[in-house]
Amino acid sequence: MGLAVVILCGATWAKQAAVQGTASAHLSSEHLREYSNLAVEWMQEYLRIDTTNPPGNEMRAVAFYKKIFDQEGIENRTFEFAPGRGDLWARIPHTQSPGKSSSGKSSPGNSSEPAKRPIVLLNHMDVVTSDASHWKVPPFSGKIQDGYIWGRGAQDMKDEGLAQLIVMVMLKREKVALDRDVIFLAVADEEANGTGTDWFIKNQRDLLENAEFLINEGGENLLEDAKVKYVGVDVGEKTSYWLHVVAHGRPGHGSRPNVDSAPNRLVRALKRIQAYQTPLRVLPVVDEFLRDMAPYEPPERAAYYRDVNNAIEDKKFQEMVESDESLNFLLRDTISLTMLGGSQQTNVIPAEAWANLDVRILPGGDPKAVAETLRKIVNDPNITIEPLEPEFRVANYSGTDNSLFAAIRDVSGKYFPGTPVVPHITSGYTENQRYRPLGIIAYGFNPYTATDEEGNTEHGNDERIRVEEVRRGPRILFDVVAEVAGR
Ligand SMILES: [Zn+2]
Repeated sequence: MGLAVVILCGATWAKQAAVQGTASAHLSSEHLREYSNLAVEWMQEYLRIDTTNPPGNEMRAVAFYKKIFDQEGIENRTFEFAPGRGDLWARIPHTQSPGKSSSGKSSPGNSSEPAKRPIVLLNHMDVVTSDASHWKVPPFSGKIQDGYIWGRGAQDMKDEGLAQLIVMVMLKREKVALDRDVIFLAVADEEANGTGTDWFIKNQRDLLENAEFLINEGGENLLEDAKVKYVGVDVGEKTSYWLHVVAHGRPGHGSRPNVDSAPNRLVRALKRIQAYQTPLRVLPVVDEFLRDMAPYEPPERAAYYRDVNNAIEDKKFQEMVESDESLNFLLRDTISLTMLGGSQQTNVIPAEAWANLDVRILPGGDPKAVAETLRKIVNDPNITIEPLEPEFRVANYSGTDNSLFAAIRDVSGKYFPGTPVVPHITSGYTENQRYRPLGIIAYGFNPYTATDEEGNTEHGNDERIRVEEVRRGPRILFDVVAEVAGR
């Protein structure tokens, strides 16, 4: 996925001290050090596996995970759904309820509480392409240099897959009593066609066991002036609805201009589309995000953020939104002109000229209505506007009133005191939107911090993660999972 901005929180974390009030604070310091060492060693090993997609070769990563799960005695299954490409599933089962001998939670006579629905830790094993000639360190070296572990996938998302692996190993070795199953799912092909998730949901959906929660890539933990500004949890994504605009007109010679030619019609239509502003709409999660952020904004903006449902009627706020990319996409469906085409020759007026629009729709939005509005605005019978893909994936999001969000809020508050933990919508894409329709509350949550510069190496050159992040991140995720799944 793209556009994650995650940030550094000062050097204090280098000490790796236990954080009071978390599950991991109860583990011995030798064990904690051992898990941190394992995280670094396995991160290097994992980054050395080339799973560039295309072609993917994710079975190499499946073998890496399987070897560790087998060594640790953790139940797992692998699925090679196409040559060299596959998914891996693993599980730590919930603990049988100890019944009335337990710590007094269950009343006498109530011998067993039913297990809660599972939590899924989801990660993709493939990475995007890399051009070694533009890297300081070879992209599949897993080398440690200047305090970083370098490699394609260090931010997206072998780092989080590794954290999820360590969490599974910690739960198993520490014999953490669980009241729900913890499921680890590594999939292929997220960066291209999503066939790993498609295949798994179609063929092995039972292994998700009607899960209640899912944690995946995403999340945005913003640091400004050496302080974490907020821990952003991605609770939803927009969805893309690409439109193909075609203008038709009389062809001819370029030496004899024609006002109503296809290219001229197209330009006029695009001008009308450019001038059009989609309506502003406030999702409850966006309202919550802006209200939470209000205390950190200058007075005028803060007043708008406290009451955004009214602010959207205010002309000045509307202008503020239009000129602020990171606010604009949260409050409306967006339209970007991205591709244009016409004649193959400069002296030929073509019979057709076309453009593609990247339209992104907020959860709950109606794509057909957007296309219909654009047709009305263009108001030209010689222009057609149709979706590029026949299938439209409806945008969705998960609410925040549940024990997973509460655990993320609680644990993040302990690691980053005084920092608000807020729900956020990402403008990018993650596979969470494929799991929510199964009835799963799915979040993008990142247990690592990174500077803006480090975060931007995702899909770029010199992708890397600070060694100290690799040592600490799995513990943050462990504490979240232990809080939501521990007995
Ligand atoms: Zn990703």
